[in-house]
Amino acid sequence: MVNLSEVKGTSRENRTAAHTHIKGLGLRSDGTAETAGNGFVGQTAAREACGVVVDLIRAKKMSGRAVLLAGGPGTGKTALALAVSQELGTKVPFCPIVGSEVYSTEVKKTEALMENFRRAIGLRVREMKEVYEGEVTELVPEEAENPLGGYGKTISHLILTLKSAKGTKKLRLDPSIYEAVQKERVAQGDVIYIEANTGACKRVGRSDAYATEFDLEAEEYVPVPKGDVHKKKEIVQDVTLHDLDIANARPQGGQDVMSMMGQLMKPKKTEITDKLRGEINKVVSRYIDQGIAELVPGVLFIDEVHMLDMECFTYLNRALESPISPIVILASNRGTTLIRGTQDITAAHGVPSDLLARLLIIPTHPYNPSEIQTIIRLRAKTEGLTISESALEKVAQHGVKVSLRYALQLLTPSSILAKVNGRQSIEPADVEECEDLFIDAKRSAQIVESADGAFIA
Ligand code: ATP
Repeated sequence: MVNLSEVKGTSRENRTAAHTHIKGLGLRSDGTAETAGNGFVGQTAAREACGVVVDLIRAKKMSGRAVLLAGGPGTGKTALALAVSQELGTKVPFCPIVGSEVYSTEVKKTEALMENFRRAIGLRVREMKEVYEGEVTELVPEEAENPLGGYGKTISHLILTLKSAKGTKKLRLDPSIYEAVQKERVAQGDVIYIEANTGACKRVGRSDAYATEFDLEAEEYVPVPKGDVHKKKEIVQDVTLHDLDIANARPQGGQDVMSMMGQLMKPKKTEITDKLRGEINKVVSRYIDQGIAELVPGVLFIDEVHMLDMECFTYLNRALESPISPIVILASNRGTTLIRGTQDITAAHGVPSDLLARLLIIPTHPYNPSEIQTIIRLRAKTEGLTISESALEKVAQHGVKVSLRYALQLLTPSSILAKVNGRQSIEPADVEECEDLFIDAKRSAQIVESADGAFIA
């Protein structure tokens, strides 16, 4: 049987990479915003409003409704939507898309929207499994060329100490698992568990006696040995409905949740049909009724919502009514504009009035220079970059003059230039060099205009 825990895909890391410093809305227990908290700086009114939305979601008062974040580029709309999902819980799916993404020659617009709705709906499956759980007390690495690279040494033997009420038992792990343990970066002092039937292993924490050297979030499984069952443990597995759709779009048998989820690792892909989604919904509801699984509605964030057309808005309206709808957060930096798919109907943010009527609209405002500076400092720290105060000021000036986005984008290339110039920390000269290499949109447009005919009209 394939491991449930091999299931992946509740997050879209690459999309959220620019927001790794955001850990939540940074609100006090009375709902008011700290000036800076959870990685958020300023934008306090919008953060407080998002806090109220989180309360409404928890009180199940958001059904049929959605949120619209309205404000200029780089004012933190994506960051706010992400923070809402973080406030709802750790494994809550966050699915960010841009309105224009739904247009493709291969997939119908509403089909693309539906796919993203299902990416934003999580399913938490709980199972009892027989496991060994214990601390890695001896992990002896020996100097050797590492075929996997990166880790430096290979493991020569590995002892797992199982602790239970009955006492302590040491288990020498089978060498067949060493490569996988190494790949997983299990270190001495890690607490891991090994599933008895499947021989899979997961790192679940770290003994207090050891420093936290490695990221504890890793969820890779490695095959491990056979032996006596140590204890039963509840294994929690998070997937999205879209993961299940993809997995089961491949020809196979079995309609139970195990074989359904077991399909996740198989590579062959066929089309996801409405019929298939219906089947999956049926199985999922059965498991929800039996208490094995629970739905975890996440956040679907649609940036540049004015790029959606009438047909998409009709679909959105209907989807919001569904009992399994995720929280939908729309964003727009447009004022009154034409609704796509109509000849002459204009509306606020290009959103039809029937949908507008369902929206809680939260404005976001531009940042002041000191907020921009704080955000840039935060971001530099998150990216592990050293920057001098005067260079930071220089980058922040771009944040004020051009945009926060542009300023943030200057950080990494500036750090590379600093290294090339033999410096440990970013200095004003590196930023200057960088701003000549990578121009902002306004300057770029001016160059094209002034080149008079040098570019194809
Ligand atoms: P766009 O209109 O281009 O979609 P946006 O309003 O969604 O922009 P974000 O992408 O959220 O803006 O913000 C740009 C960058 O600035 C991101 O890296 C984001 O994490 C960071 N950021 C924005 N606002 C804040 C804030 N108040 N505190 C900390 N970081 C912020």
